[in-house]
Amino acid sequence: FFITLEGGDGSGKTTVLGRVAAYLQNHSMPYLITREPGGVDIAEKIRSIILDPAHTAMDARTEALLYAAARSQHLAEVVEPALQEGITVLCDRFVDSSLVYQGYARGLGIEEVWGINRFATGGRMPDLTFYLDVDPEVGLSRIAANQGREVNRLDLENLEFHQKVQAGYKLVVDSDPQRIVVLDAGRPIHMVEQDIVSVLKDRILK
Ligand code: C5P
Ligand code: MG
Repeated sequence: FFITLEGGDGSGKTTVLGRVAAYLQNHSMPYLITREPGGVDIAEKIRSIILDPAHTAMDARTEALLYAAARSQHLAEVVEPALQEGITVLCDRFVDSSLVYQGYARGLGIEEVWGINRFATGGRMPDLTFYLDVDPEVGLSRIAANQGREVNRLDLENLEFHQKVQAGYKLVVDSDPQRIVVLDAGRPIHMVEQDIVSVLKDRILK
């Protein structure tokens, strides 16, 4: 299975992913955890170009293309081979992030960003996606409190940008409600985790 986590900054994706992994481990399901942009050397290098706080001049189209490039490398090197072998892939962000951040929040257009991503992904889509929905103010305050977090060009964005991200996710979620499960991520992590486990029981472990 290909399972992805989506959400605004500070929604708790990375933390929740670790808990989901522990759950799969306890059920003897082979899995791997990975992330976008990144997950392999080439894509991690692209990530550092995109997120470099010095790169304030980056054009939105350049950004969208770099995300798509990182994605195709990550699919080719990690995701597709793992799925071939029956390994469940847990991925921190995937194409929905591009539709929302570049397509909607940066204003390139969701359909336009789909265009380059159809090419980048060859049509591969997750079997299941969890969207962690959090009020942007709560998300930003979590980020401010998390001192271990990497420096990130997006940290320069204001509340309004993050509100656009939330609105963009709503559009994307509504366009594919079968695949995307919405969770209220303003609650404590263990409650989000419980919801995820019950969906996994229903849809994956059966
Ligand atoms: O998932 P993570 O928070 O590590 O993502 C790194 C940064 O990249 C975040 O600030 C996120 O908002 C940003 N991002 C983006 N467009 C994407 C994917 C991530 O702006 N398509
Ligand atoms: Mg994260």
